[in-house]
Amino acid sequence: MTAARLSVHDLAKTYDTGTRQVHAIDKLNFTVEAGELLCVVGPSGCGKTTLLRSIAGLLRPTSGRLEVDGQPVDGTPPGTAVVFQEYGRSLFPWMRVADNIALVLRDNGIRSAERRERVREALDQVGLADTARAYPWQLSGGMQQRVAIARALAYRPRLLLMDEPFAAVDAQTRADLEDLVYRLWRDLGVTIVFITHDIDEAVYLGQRVLVLSAEPARVREEIAIDLPAERDQLATRADPRFIELRTQIQQHIRDSGR
Ligand code: ADP
Repeated sequence: MTAARLSVHDLAKTYDTGTRQVHAIDKLNFTVEAGELLCVVGPSGCGKTTLLRSIAGLLRPTSGRLEVDGQPVDGTPPGTAVVFQEYGRSLFPWMRVADNIALVLRDNGIRSAERRERVREALDQVGLADTARAYPWQLSGGMQQRVAIARALAYRPRLLLMDEPFAAVDAQTRADLEDLVYRLWRDLGVTIVFITHDIDEAVYLGQRVLVLSAEPARVREEIAIDLPAERDQLATRADPRFIELRTQIQQHIRDSGR
């Protein structure tokens, strides 16, 4: 699996509500290197979801352009998978876990034997090998989100977009899922854009953190996370450098909200 390099040029999105225009993002420029894990943070309502949906091809930007490996894209960039926050709504409750995962593969013309193999491999990667025949509603929230991640992986994405994927689970599950994403990223070398409003999560996971300003969203700051590559929920979060980085980002967000 080769990773994608994504570049965003002068991206803008204005919503027209009928009574007023909301400039959600404007003149947004940044690059995500192939194989990088970039976290995006910013004050609530600053345009993070708008950005992610625009990259995913789910929203049409008002202006600007996206390039994957230097090629302009219109619509969903090739090799892109998305994981949303609402796992409950992203899986079909009447379909078994394996069928939920296989569905996208079938839609992409992948044959049945290969589909089975990919489903097995993806479930294995997220530690859910024995749930293939279960229904999503029989699983906990954290497990359902693992299924959503498995579905993205089965597609073998070159670019994985994650929109506050762990905002709806409890703290322990969240920590486990963060470690899962970090391990998968290191094992698979996929490019990840991870949106979160949780600064600690951004510092814990990211190689780089992009801080967005509020309405319209622009890049306020880019911060390289120079923590050791080996991350650990207790040791990393207690590292004085972690605390420094978190404080620095918090300061930028506070200032950008003014
Ligand atoms: P975030 O994900 O950072 O919380 P959003 O991208 O959801 O921010 O929203 C950015 C801004 O755009 C907000 O002011 C929000 O109210 C506005 N917005 C989002 N979606 C729409 C829409 N469909 N119509 C009008 N305004 C919208």
